Amino acid sequence: MSIFEEVKSAVDMRSAAEHLGLTVRNGMCSCPLHTDRTPSMKIYDDHFHCFSCGEHGDVIDLAQIIYGTSAYEAAKSLASDFGIAVNNSRPILKRRTQPKITAEDEKTAYRLIDSYVHLLERHLQEYAPRSPDDYVSILFVQALHEIELFRYYRSLFYEQEYSERIAFITEHGGMLARIERALNRTMAA
Ligand SMILES: [Zn+2]
Repeated sequence: MSIFEEVKSAVDMRSAAEHLGLTVRNGMCSCPLHTDRTPSMKIYDDHFHCFSCGEHGDVIDLAQIIYGTSAYEAAKSLASDFGIAVNNSRPILKRRTQPKITAEDEKTAYRLIDSYVHLLERHLQEYAPRSPDDYVSILFVQALHEIELFRYYRSLFYEQEYSERIAFITEHGGMLARIERALNRTMAA
C-alpha cells in the first residue's frame, strides 16, 4: 500500500477533521476555505463535501488544505500524528493519475466561466440599488464580490499555456460545478 492508502484506511474522516481543529457537530463543520458561520461542510465516513463552495475530498485533501502542504507532506503528518507505521520508503511523485481532460472539457469550462461573468454583469445592472435607502439584493452583493475574480479566471484561458489551463480546470472542479449549478438555476427560473 502507498502512504496515501495506509493513511486513508487507518484514519476516519471525522477523527481527521477534529484532529485538524474543526468542530464537527451533527456531522457538519465550518468550511476552512471561507467564512462559514452556518456550517456547510458535511463530514461523511470517508470524505467531506462543502455545500457552499463545492470543495470535497478525503482525509489527505483536508490535511493538505489546512496545512497548506503537498499531499505527500500532509499524508506524512497524519501518519505520524495517528501513529501509523508507514513502511513505504520510496518517494511518491504523483498521488493519483490526473483525470484526463479533453479539449471538449476545456471548451465547456471556458463557456461556463464566460456565461457566469455575463450573469454577474447582468446582476450588477438589474439588482443595483437605485437609491441609498434601497434594499440591497444578495445577488448584487455576490456579483460585486465575484466579478473581478471570474473575469480574471476567464482571462487565464487566453494567457496561459495549455498545460496550465488543464491544471486550472483540474484544480477548480468544485468551483466549475458550483457555477454550473448557479447557471442552471437561473435558466430554470
Ligand atoms: Zn466551502
